[in-house]
This record gives sequence, structure tokens and C-alpha cells, in this order.
Amino acid sequence: MLDRLYSRLPEKRERKIIDLPELEIEHLTNKTVIKNLQYISTRLDRDPRLIMRYFLKELGKPGTITPSGTLEIFDKIASKSLNELFEKFIKTYVKCPTCGSIDTRLIKHGKIFILKCLACGAETPVKYI
Ligand SMILES: [Zn+2]
Repeated sequence: MLDRLYSRLPEKRERKIIDLPELEIEHLTNKTVIKNLQYISTRLDRDPRLIMRYFLKELGKPGTITPSGTLEIFDKIASKSLNELFEKFIKTYVKCPTCGSIDTRLIKHGKIFILKCLACGAETPVKYI
């Protein structure tokens, strides 16, 4: 009885989510800073400029990467919005839709990107940023 109950619990799914990095957000007077852009880009193995372009495009705001490697967005953006966008980024541009692995590469292919999974080999076309 107890065995059957345990076997039904999903074990592996949650660990992967915990492994993903979280945004370190700071709100200043007229701007919003993502302090750990470098860390995020290393962990996800994505170019920091790509992550910047994604956020600025989705938010429709100007911004820049500072010499110290933080992302500055020139407006006040709620943390919730940034976190939601970041989740969407991971879902679209990092996570393999076939097997759920985040061990993937993003390859530019004409006017789109191909998300190539190193775990299962799946190739998924995604929108260019
Ligand atoms: Zn895969």
C-alpha cells in the first residue's frame, strides 16, 4: 500500500527546476538591474548579449550591459515580470522540449535559431532574438 503511494510521487522533475539559476534583481531610482547576468549566462551557457536582447525586446525598453557585467534596464520593471520573462526564456531558448534537458546549444540558422539538445539530439527551431 505504502509502496504504491511512493512510486506515484514525481521525484526527478523538481530537482531540475532547483538547479536553474535565479535572477538577482535590484531596483534603483530610474532603472532595474540584473546583477548576476554573467552568472546566469555561464550557467545557461548562453551569450549575455543574447539574454540582454531578449529582455529588452520583450520589455520594449532600452538598456545596456555595464563594464562590470550587470544588465541595466532603463525603467522600473517589477521583479515578477522579469522572473516570468526569464522562465519563458529558459522554456523557449534553453530547455529541450523533447527530453527536458538544459544541456543544449542555440545555433543561428538564417533568420531563426535551432535549439540543439546535447542529451537526446533533438533539434527544435525557435524564434530569432
Ligand atoms: Zn533533449
